[in-house]
Amino acid sequence: MQTQPKASHFIDGQHVEDTAGEVIDVIYPYTGEVIATLHSATPAIVDMALAAAKGAQAAWAAMTGVERGRVLRRAADIMRERNHDLSVLETYDTGKPYQETSVADATSGADAFEYFGGLAGALTGEHIPLAGGDFVYTRREALGVCVGIGAWNYPTQIACWKAAPALTCGNTMVFKPSETTPLSALKVAEILIEAGAPKGVFNVVQGLGAVGASLIGDPRVAKVSLTGSVPTGKKVYAAAAAGLRHVTMELGGKSPIVIFDDADLECAVSGAILGNFYSSGQVCSNGTRVFVQKGIKDAFLKRLGERLQNVIMGDPQDPDVNFGPMVSAAQRKIVQDYIKKGVVEGARLVAGGQTPDRDGFFIEPTVFADVTDDMTIAREEIFGPVMCVLDFEDEAEALKRANATEFGLAASVFTKDLTRAHRMSAGFEAGTCYINTHNLAPVEAPFGGSKLSGVGRENSKLAINHYSEMKTVYVAMNDVEAPF
Ligand code: NDP
Repeated sequence: MQTQPKASHFIDGQHVEDTAGEVIDVIYPYTGEVIATLHSATPAIVDMALAAAKGAQAAWAAMTGVERGRVLRRAADIMRERNHDLSVLETYDTGKPYQETSVADATSGADAFEYFGGLAGALTGEHIPLAGGDFVYTRREALGVCVGIGAWNYPTQIACWKAAPALTCGNTMVFKPSETTPLSALKVAEILIEAGAPKGVFNVVQGLGAVGASLIGDPRVAKVSLTGSVPTGKKVYAAAAAGLRHVTMELGGKSPIVIFDDADLECAVSGAILGNFYSSGQVCSNGTRVFVQKGIKDAFLKRLGERLQNVIMGDPQDPDVNFGPMVSAAQRKIVQDYIKKGVVEGARLVAGGQTPDRDGFFIEPTVFADVTDDMTIAREEIFGPVMCVLDFEDEAEALKRANATEFGLAASVFTKDLTRAHRMSAGFEAGTCYINTHNLAPVEAPFGGSKLSGVGRENSKLAINHYSEMKTVYVAMNDVEAPF
């Protein structure tokens, strides 16, 4: 497959290059080879992208919702038709197995375009009757130019989850992918043009954090939506606040999975596997603190060990492979260091922990048992395939310890006790909770975090509120009375 894009950026409906920008080498995590070379955006490129987005916004917003929605739904169809190619590219960009990318990346992006495309014609204000026949009506209006900044774990999905609600509401967007995974957002931009989006409605510029920062500081920008880590979130939020811009922050987590004695063992093990090893653990909502009630602990660890025998590590383009490398050597080093800390601080390594002697940025799926709440591996987001298993005695203790974190992205409970499942869900300090499953994020449901894990919600009808604002129009039906 041709992995080198026609140019680094996509602005005003065209591929645009500026070789004066710093070189960005795109590495295939399975081989370590350079598969594309791009250039970071120069100030001229950033300006060009913002000018294109600004220039296109009024006309895009003036189209009817049905017309905008039609473009997005066509984009969804094109993405589904090209799912194979988009998935292969996503696998080159991220190293995630094709087995995953073919069902979770372009398909999830297509879902977002389809869902928000369907909502576009239904975005309305309301009529508010007042005394004397006066009334107010509200108009739901676009914010203007939105900036999207993405992380490297779900590059296609992140671009679409931000573009779809933004464009539906009549905004335009400049999107900056992570410099580690810059390829697929360019495909999303091409597809939107093919689907009939006017030029300038969705633009992509490449670059490191500094490019993101320069976008946020520009007065033409009305809103910033970031998917990234908490430290970056704090910086981006502060920079956006300086210009009082709207924000959505989808940040990191250290989410709990609480497994009670009465849980279905097989489902609980599956949930813990999904919540720790999918995408080699590089998922923000991962349930990396697995609290297991003492009565089921031995059975859980035994069955988990058996299921880990089914890991197929290898060429992520091979559809049989179900476990890929980490996205980069740098991320692998971070994870290796956490594994070392886990051992030094006294956690019991019961599976994995090694770096396989092979090409690619692989780390074995790793399980620590007898983890305590104070250990570094139980407190900090690792963003790799490292599961911490912690014991607990009763429900009150489990809930208290599950909530004893500054993060609040996700939480799940595995139990057959219906009332306990709902009690736990009500008690979890997390934006997205699961009962007897983990890590699903359908576009129909709000997704996002509490506490340090985020601000605002992506997906669902709620996302519309984060990409539009209400204008109040007061209509007087009587003469105006004034005191003098
Ligand atoms: P980072 O926070 O390092 O980067 C996120 C994006 O922000 C990148 O595009 C980065 O550019 C950019 N950036 C960095 N500094 C600035 C700045 N000062 N101003 C503007 N933009 C900046 O996250 P990672 O890419 O390492 O992704 C992993 C993190 O993302 C994890 O913590 C994970 O939990 C979180 N995440 C959260 C999700 C959620 O929905 N809650 C979903 C997926 C991931 P560059 O990297 O090119 O320098």
